[in-house]
Amino acid sequence: MTKIAFQSAADRHSSENLEKTLLNPVMLSELSSIRGTGIAEELATIYPGDMARVGGVKLGKDGEQKAEWEKLQRGDVVLFMKDDMVFLSGIVTYLVKNPDLARELWGEDERGQTPECIYFVDEVKDQFIPRESVNRLCGLEEGYEWPGFEVHLEEKAAPVVFGYQLESAVYFPIVSEDEYKEVVKEIDRTMPLDTEGRVRLRKEDGFLRDQLFRGKVIEECAICGHKYPTQFLIAAHIKDRWHCTTEDRLDYENIAMPLCKLGCEELYRRNYVTVIDERVAITKARVDSNDLKSILVKLQGRVCPWFKGSRKYFDWHTRLGKYF
Ligand SMILES: [Zn+2]
Repeated sequence: MTKIAFQSAADRHSSENLEKTLLNPVMLSELSSIRGTGIAEELATIYPGDMARVGGVKLGKDGEQKAEWEKLQRGDVVLFMKDDMVFLSGIVTYLVKNPDLARELWGEDERGQTPECIYFVDEVKDQFIPRESVNRLCGLEEGYEWPGFEVHLEEKAAPVVFGYQLESAVYFPIVSEDEYKEVVKEIDRTMPLDTEGRVRLRKEDGFLRDQLFRGKVIEECAICGHKYPTQFLIAAHIKDRWHCTTEDRLDYENIAMPLCKLGCEELYRRNYVTVIDERVAITKARVDSNDLKSILVKLQGRVCPWFKGSRKYFDWHTRLGKYF
């Protein structure tokens, strides 16, 4: 499901490009080539803070690099390498082929080419992974030289993705309703979680997240009611996902709710709060911290707009929290 792209600074031009738009973020509102277009609109929903990091790939000989770039989708991981070391990783958020934007960002090389196959990334993190480790985990031969840009599919990528915990909790591949329905029927909670199992869960998460947040910049947390950029929210199963039946999962309009990463996800998962008859309630969990107590007191009694239709799942959670 999650693929990996190897991006190495193969020449001076690509090394400068990395510096320009990956190490330094780009201000989206300053980009004149996409101003007023649908691209700018879509990027604004992904990057409400206006700052984005972006990479690009040239078409390559016979379109080879373009063909690699076309394998990418939202949620894939890009590994950036310099001097035989992966020093940065990022998550693909948006893809667009646009020579005008590429020229504006990076200009042209001496042959008049520009990296027009563009990918935007987020969740950029410092890494320190030797190329040899990645090669070994991907099952590539020892000493394998990375070309300028190359994408490795799920089976090869999985040991790196899971081993270094590179997957995003915000950006997922796009999953259709039909695919979701197929996938959730195959989820088997009695089996150990192998690569295929993880792929299914990832598809499940991706679909639920799109159901809740697609196209939205801001959404309300179901517990605290604060409105946050969707990057600060997760699509949480109301009933613990490992106890959900296939039938629960097929009820995708009611099984999930938005929870903020600024606290409510933890509070709900750890059963400090639940929702009873539409209102947020504090459970009997022992609270030794006065600061935590004051947060819980503020939440108590808030009306949860996600209750309707989801009562049975909240009831399950309430019983789990031994509220009664
Ligand atoms: Zn919250």
